[in-house]
Amino acid sequence: MAEFEASEAEKILEDNFTIYPKKQPHNVRLYRGAITFDRLRNGETSYTPSVLKMEDIIGCQCMSGRQVGDHSAYFCIYAYPWGKKVFGGDRRQRRVVVFRVSQFDTFEANLVIAERWRKGILMLLRGVDVSCEEDIDIKELPQAKKILFLINPYSGQGKADKIFKERVVPLLGESDLNYHPICTEYQGHAHEIAKGLEVNEWDALAIVSGDGLVYEVINGLMSREDRETAMKIPIGIIPGGSGNALISAMLYAKGEPLTNLVQHATFSLIKGQTHGMDLVRVQSTKQIIHSFLSTCWGIISDVDIESEKYRKLGDTRFTIQTFARIAKLRVYHGRLSFLRDEDYHAAKIHVNQQAQSQHINRTQSVADRSGMTHACTSTEDLDEMVFDENGVEPHMVRSQSEIAPSAMDRSMSYSEHFLKVTSQDKSPTSEVSDSEADESLATNDSTGEVTANGGVIQTDSNSEEEPLTNGKPDEHVTTEPVANHEPAAKQEAGDTNTEEKQSLLPPLDEPVPSDWKTVEGDFVNITAVYLSHLSTDVCAWPNRNFKEGVICIQYLKAPLSRKNLLSIFLDLEKGEHLKSPYVSVEYVKAFRIEPMCEGEIITVDGEKVDYGPIQGEILPNAARVMY
Ligand code: ADP
Ligand code: MG
Repeated sequence: MAEFEASEAEKILEDNFTIYPKKQPHNVRLYRGAITFDRLRNGETSYTPSVLKMEDIIGCQCMSGRQVGDHSAYFCIYAYPWGKKVFGGDRRQRRVVVFRVSQFDTFEANLVIAERWRKGILMLLRGVDVSCEEDIDIKELPQAKKILFLINPYSGQGKADKIFKERVVPLLGESDLNYHPICTEYQGHAHEIAKGLEVNEWDALAIVSGDGLVYEVINGLMSREDRETAMKIPIGIIPGGSGNALISAMLYAKGEPLTNLVQHATFSLIKGQTHGMDLVRVQSTKQIIHSFLSTCWGIISDVDIESEKYRKLGDTRFTIQTFARIAKLRVYHGRLSFLRDEDYHAAKIHVNQQAQSQHINRTQSVADRSGMTHACTSTEDLDEMVFDENGVEPHMVRSQSEIAPSAMDRSMSYSEHFLKVTSQDKSPTSEVSDSEADESLATNDSTGEVTANGGVIQTDSNSEEEPLTNGKPDEHVTTEPVANHEPAAKQEAGDTNTEEKQSLLPPLDEPVPSDWKTVEGDFVNITAVYLSHLSTDVCAWPNRNFKEGVICIQYLKAPLSRKNLLSIFLDLEKGEHLKSPYVSVEYVKAFRIEPMCEGEIITVDGEKVDYGPIQGEILPNAARVMY
C-alpha cells in the first residue's frame, strides 16, 4: 500500500466518481500532497485508498466523451511514480487515471465539477496555497510556466530533434507547461538567441543537446548588458549530446539513478525547482568565458576533442579515444598555480568521514529506490482499476513501463475517445514546429623516454611495472571527497558587476601572487572541475553541491604507468579515482594553467579554446539551473 497519511482536516476536495473505464464508484479525495481514490462497496470505503502523490503528478486535463449521449465530463491525471523494484526500480512508470464525473444530466454541469478538480490540482502543481474548496473557487490560477527549448540537431549522434519530438513532447503534452522549440541552425546560434532573448517572457530555458549548448547559452546570457537579470533565468537540460555532464550532476544531486536519462530529465524539468549553480570566470589570452563544468588540459581534453571524428558513436566515442590515447600516451609540460581555499581544506578534514558514508548511503538509496519511493499504488493495483471490464479498449488508459516512444501513440488513442476540453490556460506556443595496460610505461624522467615537450611516450612493453615514486601526490594533497560545504562567499545569480573589481586573478602576463602555490613539471592531465560529473559515467567529484563555492583541481603527474592510468579511468565512474595516490587534488578559489610545450587543445566545458595560458576563479552561485 502506498505511503500517504493525511488527516480529515487536510482534505481539500472529496467526491465520488467512477474511474474510467470501470463503473464502480470510488471515493476520491484531494489533499495537498496527493490524490487518493478508494473503491466503494455498499457505499463504504475500504480505508486503504490508492494514492497518486502530487510530487509524481505532471498534469491534469478535462475531457468530454465522444460517444453520443455521454453527458459525462472526465478529468485525467498524468503521473510518473517510480516503478516497483521487481520491474526495475530505476525508472519512472507512466500512470494515467481518468475520473468520470456523471452526477448531472448535462455535460456542462458535470464539467463544472471536473474543472474544479482540475483547477485544484493545477493550483497545487503551480504552488498556490490551497487548503480548502473555497480557496479553489476564490483564488486565481496562475499562468502555466513557459519554457523555451533550444534543440541542437548536431549534438550527440544527431538525434536531439528526434529525442525531443518522440520522447519529450509526449510528456510536455501531458504536463502543465507551455513551451516553444527552436532548433539551432549553426554553432553560436544559441549564444545569439540567449544574448537577444526577451528573458521576462520565459520561465526557463531548456536545452536539448550536450554540455556545449549550455556553454553557448550561459556565455550568451553573460555577454548581455543586463546579465544580472538575464542570469536569473533557470537553465534546464534534456540530454541530447555525447557529453551530458550537467543533467548527470542534476539527477545525481537529486539522488536519482543515471539511467533512462531522457525520461528522468524531462520529468525533472517539468517538476523542476530552481537552484543556484557556481560558475567559473575563465580568462585566456583572447577571451573571457563563463564556465559551468570544467577547464581541462591533458589526456581528457585531447580525448574530448580528438573523439569528434567518432561523433556518430555517441558517448562510446570517448571510450574508444581514451584507449587510443592511453596506448599513445604523452605528457604535457607546464605549470599549475592555484590559490587554495584554506577554509575548505580545513572543513574537509572534519567532513571527510561523513562524506564517504553519505556517498555510500546515497549509492545504496539509489539501488533501493523503489522500496523508498514507491509512493504510488502498485502497477497491479492500478491495472486492476483502470483495465477494461466493459469492453473498452484497455490501451486507452493502460499503465506502461515506459513513456516513449509509445506515449505519442497513447495520446492519439485517447483522442479517439475523448475530446480535450481544457487547454485554455496553455498558450498557443505549446506546439512543436515542423521546421523546427598491463605493460608499464617507461616514463622515468632520467631515462629520457618521456619527451618533456609534449612528445609521444614510446611504449616499452618490457619495462617494469610500477616504477613510480615521483608521480605521487605532494604531502599537502588530499584524496578524499568532500560533502556539504557551504561556500564562504555567497553571490546572487548574475551578480557579476563587481566580478572584475573583486577578481582574485592577476593579469595573465604577470606572475601569480605569493600566496598561490605552483607545481611545475610533466603532467598527464590537469582538470579544474566544478560539477560532480564530467559525463554520465565520469563522477569526478562525488557529493559536490551545485553551490559548493570552490573549484576542485585534479591532476596527474608523469611518470604514470598505463596500468595505473587505466585503473584511474575505470574508477572515474564512481568517483573512486580520488582514492588513487596518483591523483592529486586541490580545492581552490582560483587557478592558472601555463602550457610550456607545443600543443593545441585546452577545453572549457568540453569546448576547444585558444591554446596558451589560462586562468579561472570561482563565482559562487552565479547561475540558475532547474531540476
Ligand atoms: P555533444 O555533447 O554531442 O558534443 P554539444 O551540446 O556539446 O553536444 O554540441 C556540440 C557542438 O555543436 C557545440 O560546439 C555547439 O556549439 C555546436 N552546435 C550547436 N548548434 C549547432 C548546429 N546547428 N550545427 C552545428 N553545430 C552546432
Ligand atoms: Mg560537446
